[in-house]
Amino acid sequence: MQPYNPLEKFGLNSVSAAFSRRADGNMSLSFGDTKGSLENREKFLSGLGIDYRNLITAKQVHGRNVEYVIGKDKGRGALDYGSSITDTDGFITDQPGVPLAILTADCLSIFIYDPKRPAIAILHAGWRSTEQNISQAGISRMREKFGSQAEDLFIGFGPSIRSCCLEVEKDFKSNFDFGLVKRQGRVFMDLALINQRQLSDCGVKKENIFDPALCTFSDDDFFSFRKEAQAAGRLISAIMLK
Ligand SMILES: [Zn+2]
Repeated sequence: MQPYNPLEKFGLNSVSAAFSRRADGNMSLSFGDTKGSLENREKFLSGLGIDYRNLITAKQVHGRNVEYVIGKDKGRGALDYGSSITDTDGFITDQPGVPLAILTADCLSIFIYDPKRPAIAILHAGWRSTEQNISQAGISRMREKFGSQAEDLFIGFGPSIRSCCLEVEKDFKSNFDFGLVKRQGRVFMDLALINQRQLSDCGVKKENIFDPALCTFSDDDFFSFRKEAQAAGRLISAIMLK
C-alpha cells in the first residue's frame, strides 16, 4: 500500500510527507507493543526517502510549544524515546534532509508546507493543544523564524477521532465557541473543523487545507486510544524537505 500523503493533491514535489496506518505497525517506542517499532519505522520511512535513524520526535505533552530544529537535532528520539525533544507538540525547520515526526492515536496531526521559503512544520493537535491553538502557534513560529506568510502555506491533516465519535462531557469546559456538535442530548467535538477554522483565522486559504476526513475510532485502519486504551499503538506522521 502506498503511504498516504495528505499534501499530495497540491502537487508539491520538494517535500516528503505521509502518515502510517495500522498495517504499517506500531511506530511508538514508548506506547503499545513496541517490539517491532524500529523495524516498522525503518520500513515505512524508507518509502518516503527518510532514514529512520535521522528522525526527530517529541515527548508530546498536549501543549502549544513548537520547536525549531536543525541538522544537529537529527536522531533525537529516533532510536530511543528518552532522547526525544521534551515538552513540545510540534516542530518547524527550513533545512532539507531533517525529518520531523509526530505520533498519534486519535489526536490530529497537521502537516504544513511553505514552498516559498521553503519550510515545513508538523503539529500534534489533540483537544488540549487545540484549545491552546497550536495551529496558530505553529504558523507564528514559521513567520518569526522564516518570514512565512499564511497565504503561502499548504496544509494537510492526518487521521483523527472525529465528531462522529469524539464524545465530550456535557459541561465540557473549553474556549471553543464553535466545533461542538449536539446529537441526541450528547456533545461531540470536531477537532478537524476547529483546527481548520483556527488556520483560516491566521490567514491560511481554505483551498490550501486538505482534510482526508478519516476517523481513527470508526476506521480499523488506524490506532485509537479511546477504543484500545493502553494497548493502542501509534501512527506516525512524518515530513521532510527534500
Ligand atoms: Zn468516527
